[in-house]
Amino acid sequence: MSEIKEFKTESKRLLDLMINSIYTNKEIFLRELISNASDAIDKYHYISLKDGNVPSKEYEIRVETNKKNRTITISDNGIGMSYDDIINNLGTIAKSGSAEFLNNLKDKDAKSELEIIGQFGVGFYASFMVAKKVVVDTKTINSDKAYRFISEGTDTYEIEETSKDDVGTTITLYLRKNEKEEDYDKFLDDYTIESLVKKYSDYVKYPIKKKVIETINQKDENGNDIENKYEDVEFDKTLNSMIPLWKKNKNEVTEEMLNEFYKSKFNDYLDPLFSLHISTEGMISYNALVFVPSKPPYDLYSEKYEKGLQLYTKGVFIMDKCKPLVPDYLRFIKGLVDSSDLSLNISREMLQQNRQLDKIASSIEKKILFELNKIKENDYEKYKKFFEAYGLNIKWGVYDGYGANKDKLKDLLIYDTVNSEEKVTLKKYVENMKDKQEFIYFASASNKESVLAMPQMDLVKRQGFDVLILNDNIDEFVISILSEYDGKKFKSINQGDLDLLDEKEKEELEKVKEEKQTVIEKIKDILKDEVSDVVISSRLSESPVCLSSSEGISLEMEKVLANNPLGNQAKANKILEINPHHELFKAIESIYENNDEESMNDYAELLLSQALLMEGFPLKDPVKFSNTMCKLMVKASK
Ligand code: ADP
Repeated sequence: MSEIKEFKTESKRLLDLMINSIYTNKEIFLRELISNASDAIDKYHYISLKDGNVPSKEYEIRVETNKKNRTITISDNGIGMSYDDIINNLGTIAKSGSAEFLNNLKDKDAKSELEIIGQFGVGFYASFMVAKKVVVDTKTINSDKAYRFISEGTDTYEIEETSKDDVGTTITLYLRKNEKEEDYDKFLDDYTIESLVKKYSDYVKYPIKKKVIETINQKDENGNDIENKYEDVEFDKTLNSMIPLWKKNKNEVTEEMLNEFYKSKFNDYLDPLFSLHISTEGMISYNALVFVPSKPPYDLYSEKYEKGLQLYTKGVFIMDKCKPLVPDYLRFIKGLVDSSDLSLNISREMLQQNRQLDKIASSIEKKILFELNKIKENDYEKYKKFFEAYGLNIKWGVYDGYGANKDKLKDLLIYDTVNSEEKVTLKKYVENMKDKQEFIYFASASNKESVLAMPQMDLVKRQGFDVLILNDNIDEFVISILSEYDGKKFKSINQGDLDLLDEKEKEELEKVKEEKQTVIEKIKDILKDEVSDVVISSRLSESPVCLSSSEGISLEMEKVLANNPLGNQAKANKILEINPHHELFKAIESIYENNDEESMNDYAELLLSQALLMEGFPLKDPVKFSNTMCKLMVKASK
């Protein structure tokens, strides 16, 4: 008697996706099924260790093909599935069976004894990329009954009792008809199967076997070849080396192997930006595979995101996310570490303060930084991609802990600048500094055009000095933590004294300051509640006014802090700078001389509003601003 059941909604969706898949990588179905088989054996093995009634056995995964029937069969002698398991695991994808298995384990610490490969891949359903029909025969421990699941990829599946001698699972795929775009028959070739196992599943720790037929020379009774006499012999061939990729000799491991390993282990569909294969002996010995994903994980900046590398001891899986192995600013890296120096029974608490682990962590950090610097020198295009994805993390790393890591990270920073076509390092900026240039100038803005349009750029432009363009909120905080690079101090184009005038200009400015003293004092008096000072500017040549700040909190920092609901709302000391050579200033002077008190107030307010708007600050009273504008416009037209 067979029952017809409906797939759960999510499963239908995934099924549909697989059946209509134009994915070029259909071959990964084999990897997924082998991973499931390996997980099932892990689970069986775990139970056999805990329960004396469950015998240990020789584990194996088999892959067989039948050219006549056009089938591929993947079987394992793992834990198998009960009737309910089939419905919950194969009829539903909403919850991962592997995850559930872990949750059901009473003994929490034992979680770590299991190695569960590919927890969240497309898994079982990948079968439908190549199969028109899938039959699963399975029998679990503690049950005499075996069950068969049959699906042709429609909305329903069949489930029935069947007979099966041994505990475990056998999955039979009935291949689809060949199409113009895809030749499914190739999956029936011994050679294809063998190379797919090598490519994707070589490191699986149980033997993956296949019956192969080889033609060999017949021998006489002395063991010598008999000429022209051959026979076909069938034997079991183990297709995988069972050596974990990270334990292999570096020169046997190709980039492609690392990429495939990364994608299957960490469920990414893109190759990593780069991988590191580390194996060290000596003071600390460990093997590690470290990957930088091409795209930052979508939840990288959410609180839920857990950093960490997988941890193995002598090839035995210990835990999934070992946090102490990864500094915060590298939280985006994925990978695993296998060390023979750690005890199998190490607990989470002990990990927190394990000296060995600290040493491994700092060694990995060094290697990653070394690699990043190498990429920066040898493949700048790639480095720019890295920085695009993770620059914010590097900046955060410089700032974090009062700059504790700034020296090892500062050379990884790159910035857009006013004079260069692409982002440059601080080193490059300093190398390109003009002879008389003392400072590293920077400006906060979203792009080059905005910086070039800033009134504060007038004199800097005239000198031809380059200016770093800071466009991340954290940038000015990073710069203030760095404070200098290669002995050159950083200077904001709108903070403090720019000191860009020559002697003659300085003399003239002093003279102007003296002459205009009284009118400036008047404006200062009008604006005394809004700015900390009003001055004759030494940085303007074209523009009438600008805003600057004294040392300390900068204008940009004030804006960033204002947007942070939790942060302190510290304010910059705002200074209104006025260009004494601008027509507008001359107009103000004449109003002042005419003792026109009302106009004087209006002009002073407008000057400040202008400066605030150009700097990207909100106006305190936009309605008043608009009314004053109207008044003056009407007046001007009379
Ligand atoms: P995942 O492996 O990510 O959980 P799958 O769709 O590949 O997702 O598999 C769903 C579940 O079905 C597995 O978690 C497991 O419980 C069960 N399963 C799949 N293949 C086997 C197998 N060969 N033996 C036992 N259980 C299996």
